[in-house]
Amino acid sequence: MAKGRTISANFLTDLDKKVLKLCEIISLTIKSKIKNDKLKKDFWDKFGKISLSRDAGAGRGGGKLQRDALCVRGRQGKAPYSNRNLRWHPLVVAAKEINFAKPIKRIEIEGEDSLETLIFVVDINGNEKRYPSDKVYELPERFVILPHHWKDHINKLKHWDDVLWTQNSCVIPAMEACEWWHAVEVYAFLAITVAVEFYNVNFRDIYEEIIIILKNQQIDQISLPSYNFPSNEDDFRNCPVCKRPLSDTLEEFRIAKRSETWQPAWSHSKRAEGEDGSNQILHIEPLIETQIRHKVGKVKFGHRWCNIAMTDHSLDETLNFFEYVLKAHKKI
Ligand SMILES: [Zn+2]
Repeated sequence: MAKGRTISANFLTDLDKKVLKLCEIISLTIKSKIKNDKLKKDFWDKFGKISLSRDAGAGRGGGKLQRDALCVRGRQGKAPYSNRNLRWHPLVVAAKEINFAKPIKRIEIEGEDSLETLIFVVDINGNEKRYPSDKVYELPERFVILPHHWKDHINKLKHWDDVLWTQNSCVIPAMEACEWWHAVEVYAFLAITVAVEFYNVNFRDIYEEIIIILKNQQIDQISLPSYNFPSNEDDFRNCPVCKRPLSDTLEEFRIAKRSETWQPAWSHSKRAEGEDGSNQILHIEPLIETQIRHKVGKVKFGHRWCNIAMTDHSLDETLNFFEYVLKAHKKI
């Protein structure tokens, strides 16, 4: 991805626009339920705002809900990864074949020097079609690039610099991909979480309204919400690891006050370490390439401390490990 915004960040298909608009309706509905004007604005700026782009906009574009529910993470390195992109983006990379995307036919490289461009050749209804990196968002179905597709180009690609990678940052990792409706349901779930836990919105009231919005969506024939869309208020409000409310700062578990660390006065970057209780997106089962796991029931907000303690393990593995550690220290 290198360092710039993802390629074609401001280009959307009709489907992309419809999905983002649906999420905006969810955000507006929550905003309408927040009583105080100052809090309405706070919700909108921090969580609810939608940026009509693939990457949730530069800087303070879209809110946290758009970034976490709808977009894959930004990634660094000499690779064609997008610096955030929609999770239903049609071109993914994987180590092995996956059942939710068709392999492309081959990769070609066109252009000279700083204009070199990756071209993805795919088969669509028996016809060979070529998509340059800035057009792959228009692919009509999902395709996957596998290790053998890169093979003939490795010697060239290993010399590519940040500029070239930025111009070709057009794929997403299969493990973070999902279908549009998975992303929308995660958006709806996390939006209800934020509304009730941080903005004092009545749970039953907002829950019923969001379910109706999902039921009435006209984007596709698919019936929403899914059967496993949670309905218990605690499932929305509590961290899946420590079971405490997501608005709890976990302050009581810190014995000494956190000491100050030096920050360069000429830089605006945030401090590297966040607050223990700040909310991060948490996958109850670790993401893998062969199965879509970014979907409702498997994604929640969790405290930063809890989420980091899980690393890339499942909740069950984490709890078993915690239990082992406690026994080893004779705490239980
Ligand atoms: Zn927690």
